[in-house]
Amino acid sequence: MDELRGVRNFHQGFERGLWVGMLDAGLQLVTGGRGLGERPHWTPGHQRMETLLDSGARPVPLEETQRRYDNAHTFTKVNDVFHSGTKHDEDQPSHLLVQDTSICVTRCREEYGNPCQHFCPANVYEMVADEGGGGVGKDGRPAKLRLHLNPSNCVHCKTCDIADPYGIITWVPPEGGGGPNYQQL
Ligand code: SF4
Repeated sequence: MDELRGVRNFHQGFERGLWVGMLDAGLQLVTGGRGLGERPHWTPGHQRMETLLDSGARPVPLEETQRRYDNAHTFTKVNDVFHSGTKHDEDQPSHLLVQDTSICVTRCREEYGNPCQHFCPANVYEMVADEGGGGVGKDGRPAKLRLHLNPSNCVHCKTCDIADPYGIITWVPPEGGGGPNYQQL
């Protein structure tokens, strides 16, 4: 708690821009975390996520992102998970709960392009073709997708719980003390 108290305003300091944030962060070092006076109001990250419509971005399929890694200088997420030494008991209760996966295949696909596939650093979330078929959609991808989870890849960053725009993902610490150990990095 002592360590965290000293950085309690770090993130909020950057609400007023990079340069004010850097000044604030520096002052926090000498003021025990208080920095530039009052703690500014801040908005949770998931509420700032722009829809595809608002940002003008196009949805990027996971396969396209994975093709960017050459495995010589840049590495796939799965490769990174291997090097993190992540291990979990295979038969443990799921530590990732998605309350309503129908939102993933309808609203989230349309509004946000399934960002969980991209913000999860361990490839835990994948939208894969639904075996039920449905042909090919306008984006050239399968018209019907379903959420596929790889929870044993999880490196416990908790990003999904925080960044999911609908708040339907709950992350809890897994049983058995599993997780990354980072000894091979
Ligand atoms: Fe992925 Fe991090 Fe969520 Fe684990 S906690 S599933 S690594 S985003």
